[in-house]
Parts: sequence; structure tokens; C-alpha cells
Amino acid sequence: MLLVEKALSFMAPHECITCHKEGALVCVMCAEDVFEEVPDRCYRCLAMSKDSAVCVKCRQTSPLKHVWVATEYGGVSKQLIKLLKFERAKAACEPIAAHMTRTLPYFYSETIMVHIPTATSRQRMRGYDQSELIAKLVARQKGVRYEPLLVRLGQDRQVGATRKQRYEQAKSMFNACKPETIRGAHILLIDDILTTGASLESAAKVLKEAGAKQITAAVFAQKH
Ligand SMILES: [Zn+2]
Ligand SMILES: [Zn+2]
Repeated sequence: MLLVEKALSFMAPHECITCHKEGALVCVMCAEDVFEEVPDRCYRCLAMSKDSAVCVKCRQTSPLKHVWVATEYGGVSKQLIKLLKFERAKAACEPIAAHMTRTLPYFYSETIMVHIPTATSRQRMRGYDQSELIAKLVARQKGVRYEPLLVRLGQDRQVGATRKQRYEQAKSMFNACKPETIRGAHILLIDDILTTGASLESAAKVLKEAGAKQITAAVFAQKH
């Protein structure tokens, strides 16, 4: 990362992207109502469901038990993701993590938060993995453990791929590491955006095969 970029993302005072007040990227006042609320629903079929549980029908083909979505993708959430992904504005992970922490339920302290690793070529370009940053912050704010338990295989890029192609790519996207930690664990996967759910499901399958007891997920924004 260039020195000037470093200075920009860490030192320069930010202004709120909504009201332009100096300070955080999303100020405390705006954080209360700029994110579109998402009702408790099944992430796949969008049917209402208690505590964002995956519905009985979708459970037949999804390894995930609950998927919490903090907001819809659009407006401020879209701006923050773009800043984080394409403009190397690391500070954007703070309002993202804060909103996830606000909307997530209580987790038992033995829950382990695991990020969905970003494609390595893109991460190298950016200098950081945004879902790792988010997962670390949310874990700290929720008082649970964070562990990197997945490594991403291959360099596949999902941009422009069709739904079917993305699903095929996602089939063997990850490898699990630290099997002794995974065995019997309650794992909460963390990612920034949910689109088809293919990466989440692929990661969950790998962890389940490695012996995880229960796998849930939390994402910042769902893109329809
Ligand atoms: Zn504001
Ligand atoms: Zn469903």
C-alpha cells in the first residue's frame, strides 16, 4: 500500500457519507436509520422465519442452520462495500461491523467466528481481506473467538460469472484447517455480501465434513 493511501485510510478524519459530519464514515446518528432493515427470514426463499433460521424446505439442501442478514445491499451499504472493496478504504469495515453487531443476536462464548476468505489475487491487490477485518471486529464486539479456519483454493473470480458457473466454482472453493478446533465446534461464518449463497454453503460443507457440529452465518448485506 502506498504511504499516501495508508495515511488516507488511517489518519485523515473521515466524514459521514450521509450527513457529511466530520468523524466516522457513518456517524452515530445516521447509523440508527440509514441501513434498510431486514426481517427475520430464510436467506434462500425469503420466507419469514424465526431468528433467521433456514426453513425446513431449504434445510434439505443447505448445510446452514441460520443466516443473519444485517441489511439489504443498496444505498449506504453499497457505498461502504465499494469503499472497502475497490477504494482500499479499510475504515469502511468499522460501520459495517458495528451494524452487524447491532443486529445480531447473543452468541454463546464457545461460538467461533470464521471469515469467508476472499479470492487471493483480489486480496493481494487490495492489501487486506475485508471479510477477515469484519469478522475480527464483530467477534471482538460480540465477545466470541475469531479463528481463520478456511483457506481459499484457486483464483476464480465470480464477477461476470453466471449463477450456474458461480455454483460450480463454489463447489471446491475452500479447504479447512485446524481440524482439532473444528471438531464439535459451533461455527459462525462471516461474509460481507450474500448473493447466491454458494460460497457460504461451500464453506459450510467443508467445515461440516471436518466435523463441525453446527454452522450458521452472518452477512452484512444481501444482494438480490
Ligand atoms: Zn451522519
Ligand atoms: Zn427457505
